[in-house]
Amino acid sequence: MIIDLRSDTLTKPTRFMLEAMFNARVGDDVYGEDPTVKELEAKTAALFGKEAALFCASGTMTNQIAIKCFTQPLEEVICDEGAHVYYYEGGGIAFNSSASTRTITGNRGVFTADQLIANINKNDIHNPTSSLVVIENTANRGGGRCWELAEIESIAKVCKEEGLYLHLDGARIFNAIVAKGYSAGEVGSYFDGISVCFSKGLGTPVGSVLLGTKPFIQKAKRVRKVLGGGWRQAGYLAAAGIYAIDNHIDRLADDHKRAKIIEETLKHCHYVKTVVPVETNIVIFELTDAISEAVFIQKMKEQNILCASPGKQMIRFVTHLDFTDEMLDLLVGKLKNFKNSF
Ligand SMILES: *Cc1c(COP(=O)(O)O)cnc(C)c1O
Repeated sequence: MIIDLRSDTLTKPTRFMLEAMFNARVGDDVYGEDPTVKELEAKTAALFGKEAALFCASGTMTNQIAIKCFTQPLEEVICDEGAHVYYYEGGGIAFNSSASTRTITGNRGVFTADQLIANINKNDIHNPTSSLVVIENTANRGGGRCWELAEIESIAKVCKEEGLYLHLDGARIFNAIVAKGYSAGEVGSYFDGISVCFSKGLGTPVGSVLLGTKPFIQKAKRVRKVLGGGWRQAGYLAAAGIYAIDNHIDRLADDHKRAKIIEETLKHCHYVKTVVPVETNIVIFELTDAISEAVFIQKMKEQNILCASPGKQMIRFVTHLDFTDEMLDLLVGKLKNFKNSF
């Protein structure tokens, strides 16, 4: 048995999800004729209180489309320095939108209204014009940290006052919703654009949805087409998303519980320097100088446990749908005894 905790993208669809996909009614989505895609879009939009939605192949695509729609060349996107849109999307902001990026050093991915204000460019021709703010909830490189509603509200207030668009990279927004107890509708009200991923904790094979106003989504559809993202009988994939909304949201609490137990275990391991406080399904910790991240990953791999490294001396475990209590017990045992293996 291999325990794969490199990411929550590694899950495979369950039998019931596959049945839902198999039974989907489909049509050509480029013609706007796939009923299941339409159903997923309507369902997700309603959940977050948004007018319209667009089903896309990935979260990178939904984020990049949103950035393209909310900026013009010579403008600037403001985000945290660890933000996926900046750190993990291959320089797409510059490539797709000819926009520059201003990064803020937040606290585990969360920055304040004052920090935002300090990074907004005003009418000076030396500077790119600030036009868009992106926040990430949960913050991936922040160890799955959640934004509080009050923190989002204060950022949204500044954006409104300064005439900036606000986009949510909500790849793991359902993890935040389950952990914090706020509703999708409450979160949705603060944003011009929202990207929601179904292939992370929700366990579908492929797909993300972009949400916003009707004119925004109409424009987004044009950009998706130009990027080669218009797809045909995508309803088979949308059916997995519908199934996930109905069945896989509440269970995220189990992933969070298991991540907490991993955190508690790691706190008492000699080879661990610090553990980033766990709030959702991501566990990030720092190794002592006794072992490097490469050796740790290799030693774990030899014991059929896969993990990833988000940086020097850093290790990441992500809990998910295919990670059971039985696997957790096994992992905890191995982590406790790990000091004997190097
Ligand atoms: C995974 C992820 C995305 C989207 O990634 P894709 O692999 O392109 O679907 C976007 N933002 C965050 C924070 C993510 O973790």
